[in-house]
Formats: sequence, structure tokens, C-alpha cells
Amino acid sequence: MKKNILKVMSMAVATVLAVTALSACGKKAEEEVNPDLPTLTMATNAEFKPFEYLEGSEIVGSDIDMAKAIAEYLGYNLEITNIDFDAALTGAATGKYDMAVAGITATDERRKSMNFSNNYFKASQSIIVTADSEIKGKDDLTGKVIACQEGTTGEQYLLDNEYEIQSFKTASEAVASLRAGKADAVIVDNAVAKALSAEQEGATVVLDEALTEEAYAIALQLGNDELTAKINEALEALEADGTLAKIFEKYDLVVD
Ligand code: GLN
Repeated sequence: MKKNILKVMSMAVATVLAVTALSACGKKAEEEVNPDLPTLTMATNAEFKPFEYLEGSEIVGSDIDMAKAIAEYLGYNLEITNIDFDAALTGAATGKYDMAVAGITATDERRKSMNFSNNYFKASQSIIVTADSEIKGKDDLTGKVIACQEGTTGEQYLLDNEYEIQSFKTASEAVASLRAGKADAVIVDNAVAKALSAEQEGATVVLDEALTEEAYAIALQLGNDELTAKINEALEALEADGTLAKIFEKYDLVVD
């Protein structure tokens, strides 16, 4: 009998250890799980500072704070999975995840395969060059090699305008290519360009010219109008009570 109790106890200890180990090394960040609430699953790509990025092993950023506020407003637990940007988009489109929040531009092309919430942030594509570059604006990009992030609106802009491009999984890799002299410029979303360039200690600058006009929205499965409506309701409430403005301010994001 005593032996049995010991055995049960050691099994319990093993179970607790297994759960801890999983949450420490898994890609999923699950916080304060309330077993009575349903879970909203979210895909992101934590390579897009200040919207989503890693601080140690923690996924942080304005999109993350916003998603947490939405989940709280709607009464859901939030489970975040960090994957490649294109996989996050596909994951939302196929319904593998309830939503993708990743500084995603709502485009007409993407609307053919996924639902979008209302827009929550205005953005544009910006040019990053080295501080001593002769490129001063869009007109100087002709004939240059331009680095960008795969599957993004920045890449689409470059393809549409028939530039010579280098595509990377992340915008940081595109900047590394610029720093290594392999690319002449990087095209990336304006706030991310600012954050990435700030990390280069004066070696790069962001040009003033905005190449596009875009707006970020949350992506969901095509036809999931019920959840889209709920998310819109949450976004409206969080905008009305100033929560969204506070989140953007926390990350130095300029709203216009
Ligand atoms: N806004 C851009 C897009 O939707 C880039 C997003 C990202 O790289 N996370 O394509």
C-alpha cells in the first residue's frame, strides 16, 4: 500500500515536471489559463519589432498586447504560436489558428482567401539604406538590388515594379544583407524600418518617402464571420476606451 502511494506520488511529480518542461521549450506562450474559458488560438511571427518580437523567450509587442486585450474583452484564454509569416497567414486562412496577428496588411488579394477584421493601424513601405548610400528616394532604386521579407506586401511592391530582389524569411536578415553590402536597400513596413535601423547604431537610415498606403488588420478563416464580428466588437471597444492608443504609445507607434 505504502509502495503504491509512493509510486502514485512519483508519477504525479513526473507529470508536473513534464508539463513545466513543455511550456518552457514549446513555441506556444500560454498565460494564466482559466480552464472555464474557451481558448482563442493565434499565430504570429515574432520578428517584426515593435509589433511582435522576442524578449528572451517571451513574445512581446503591440500586437501581442492588443490580442491579449481582445481575448480578455471576449472572455477567452489566448494561446500564441510563433511561426513564419507566410505560415501564420496560411494558418489563419485554413482555420488551423483562429486568427493571425502579425502586422498583416489587409489587401484585396488576401481578402480572396481570408477574412479580415477592421483595420487597426495605418502603415506604409519604407526604404532603409546605408548612411553613406547614394539612394535618396524611390527614383534611385532602379537597377539596384533590394532586400525584403518573403510573402509580404513589401515584396509584392518590388515584384510589381520589377526590381531585382532578394527575399528573406525575416526583415532582420534583409538588413544583414544590406550591412554586408550584398543588397543596396531594404524595403519593409515603416515602423519596423525605424526600429530595425535604430539597432544599426548609425550605419543605416530610413528614407522619408512612403512607397505605399496600407492598413493592418487581424486575419481569420474566410467565412468565419461570427468570430470576425466579435473581434471587431472588441477592437471598437478597445479603441473607444483608449486601450489601443495606450498600447501604441507604449511601443512609440505613431497613429495617424
Ligand atoms: N505588413 C506586411 C504584410 O502584411 C508585413 C507583415 C510582416 O512581415 N509581419 O505583408
